[in-house]
Amino acid sequence: MNASPIPAINFDLHTSKQRVPDEVRADLLSSPGFGQVFTDHMISLRWSTGRGWHDGKLEPYGPLVLDPATAVLHYSQEIFEGLKAYRQDAGPIVAFRPYANAARFRRSAARMAMPELPEEAFVQAIEVLVSHDREWVPASSEHSLYLRPFMIATTAALGVGRPADSYLFLVIASPSGSVFAGDGVRAVSVWLAEGYTRAAPGGTGEAKTGGNYAASFLGQQQAIDNGCDQVVWLDAVEHRWVEEMGGMNLFFVYGSGQDVRLVTPPLTGSLLPGITRDSLLTLAPDLGIPVSEEPISVEQWRTDCESGAITEVFACGTAAVITPVGEVKGGATGTWTIGAGQPGPVAMRLREQLLGIQFGRLPDPHGWVHKIA
Ligand SMILES: *Cc1c(COP(=O)(O)O)cnc(C)c1O
Repeated sequence: MNASPIPAINFDLHTSKQRVPDEVRADLLSSPGFGQVFTDHMISLRWSTGRGWHDGKLEPYGPLVLDPATAVLHYSQEIFEGLKAYRQDAGPIVAFRPYANAARFRRSAARMAMPELPEEAFVQAIEVLVSHDREWVPASSEHSLYLRPFMIATTAALGVGRPADSYLFLVIASPSGSVFAGDGVRAVSVWLAEGYTRAAPGGTGEAKTGGNYAASFLGQQQAIDNGCDQVVWLDAVEHRWVEEMGGMNLFFVYGSGQDVRLVTPPLTGSLLPGITRDSLLTLAPDLGIPVSEEPISVEQWRTDCESGAITEVFACGTAAVITPVGEVKGGATGTWTIGAGQPGPVAMRLREQLLGIQFGRLPDPHGWVHKIA
């Protein structure tokens, strides 16, 4: 007999009796915004000490009932993921590298002292949800179904002597268009967080956990107050080394034409290891563009823009794919423009390449696209 090492997790199907009517859904899908519209269903799965993973279901999307003493509400023991399902031009619905998200979810869980969900169960949860809500995967190109798996500590007790002993894993799904409003791709302006820190050595910066975002909102607010779109985080010790932009990783383009190369900050433990970042580290060399992971300081960023050595900078992440950066401002460091302050050819080429693979318009040599429905 063939004993499987991890018992398969079962998701009981409790389908919704009040699905959103077709005409209403079509209207919502015509301009979905980002993360505002949700599908008919969600996945839930519980974990508790002694029982392990249990009570997996697909159920109607709806509010949670939580005891006011629930641990996550007080101590932020929470992790999440973000990935997308795409309706490919040729028909199938696919997810992009879901096992990479599943692996990162396990690493985030380990850092936050939470139970690790087996990677197969993570992907299976997504498959069950997307196949039941497949009508919600937009057909228009560049729109997709954003998937948000997350886990919260549900023990209802205020003692903090140890981590919680019960957890709830959920997956919700949101048809989504562009994160940054407006038609087409535009360059964003960024504010250097010289006075605030997002994550410190030994902290939780490389875990995808809500607390990192809670720690970042005031810096993001300061960016907006200074007329910028986004905040750029610097290292916690010297406030000098560039880490990442809001919820996206950064790439610096040196040179142009045949001599172009990419630099991105190394994974020091305080920035989030993006799957888009990782994909570009593979894709760029495929296109003949060398890449390296090297620390870059704000002074170097500035002087290399002024000398013309840096020709483009862009941010990357699942939600907004690739977003060019046109201008940098800092209270102490001053203001400068990157290249012409407009989306550059390298960012746009990599963006087309990535979207081409995701939507099935280009070959997928690394097997990143996973058919789900
Ligand atoms: C999720 C996230 C990213 C991007 O990761 P992707 O896997 O590429 O979507 C970058 N920075 C932060 C802080 C994030 O939370």
